[in-house]
Amino acid sequence: MAKVLMDKVVSNCILSISNTRAMANCSTFCPPLPTRFSTSSLSPKPQFFVSFKAFSSQTPKDESPKRIGFLGLGIMGSPMAQNLIKAGCDVTVWNRTKSKCDPLISLGAKYKSTPEEVAASCDFTFAMLADPESVVDVACGKHGAASGLSPGKGYVDVSTVDGSTSKLINKHVKATGALFLEAPVSGSKKPAEDGQLIFLTAGDRPLYDMVGSELDVMGKSRFYLGEVGNGAAMKLVVNMIMGSMMASFSEGLILSEKVGLDPSVLVEVISQGAISAPMYSVKGPSMVKSLYPTAFPLKHQQKDLRLALGLAESVSQPTPIAAAANELYKVAKSHGLGDHDFSAVIEAVKVKLQEKTEN
Ligand code: NAP
Repeated sequence: MAKVLMDKVVSNCILSISNTRAMANCSTFCPPLPTRFSTSSLSPKPQFFVSFKAFSSQTPKDESPKRIGFLGLGIMGSPMAQNLIKAGCDVTVWNRTKSKCDPLISLGAKYKSTPEEVAASCDFTFAMLADPESVVDVACGKHGAASGLSPGKGYVDVSTVDGSTSKLINKHVKATGALFLEAPVSGSKKPAEDGQLIFLTAGDRPLYDMVGSELDVMGKSRFYLGEVGNGAAMKLVVNMIMGSMMASFSEGLILSEKVGLDPSVLVEVISQGAISAPMYSVKGPSMVKSLYPTAFPLKHQQKDLRLALGLAESVSQPTPIAAAANELYKVAKSHGLGDHDFSAVIEAVKVKLQEKTEN
């Protein structure tokens, strides 16, 4: 693992910031502290910090290697687990559909037939599951991971869920004496393959420190945001913005075509201006051809908008743009596009589809 991490260090210019002073010295890299995470006058310790590709060997050479469990081998979980295996970690996998474990087993992963057995045989277990229901099922259901946890172990949930679900998992994990970290990721299939994810973590700080080197294998930076729920909230806000951006981009592409413009030229124009975003340049050319190869399933984007709207409602915050975008994703989902990439939301903007929905 040291070699992989060192490569990353060289290619990504490590910056590790773990105290207020460092943050002050590195303002280029540090977002200003939101009030909610800011240091109070009573407590000089910052509740929020970010590390960029921290190179830290958490396992001293004379200690036995950490045994890492990985539950959920979908679009994201498979490449994440694969990167851990390639980095030399001792990885044990489980997935509801067993066949998805096979490529990882052939790379050297061990296999257990229940989340409970994985958690019982590993020091730390990561979970990358679809939604709140599957996250609760896998952690707290029959033969769930919690049944295999005990003091000294850790459970790291990297799925995207709401804060209440995360808090529920935290409660079940804590009851076993183990530690819990929520760590949803920003970044999609390609960043997962390239080990370039951004982890938005919250929960037990000692566990955050213990799995730092594994997070650095899978990601390019990690934020520690304080108490459980903050990681989930940050992820939902990010994906709420992304969902609205994609819906708005879809409307623009369709409108440009309707008025006789070439939507491919629109993609190019956008890429050169102030509203340029990698998402538009990456997804735009396929959207113009009505192709939606799945990197981020539309059903998950709609789930994230639904959860973000719930979060906004919990603090009486109006989010009319996100609410409108959510309706578009619901239309697309009801037309069987849930397993397509979320850029397929453009289909919901096409008049023919809307007419079909109205009938
Ligand atoms: P995915 O390909 O749909 O994989 C979902 C995983 O959850 C699969 O392993 C699936 O098992 C498992 N699962 C679903 N329902 C289950 C249940 N009831 N019991 C046990 N396992 C169950 O999704 P993904 O794209 O990897 O995303 C995983 C999570 O990461 C989601 O929360 C998503 O919002 C988030 N995320 C995704 C992206 C992205 O770009 N794809 C980016 C950031 C975050 P089976 O194989 O048996 O179906």
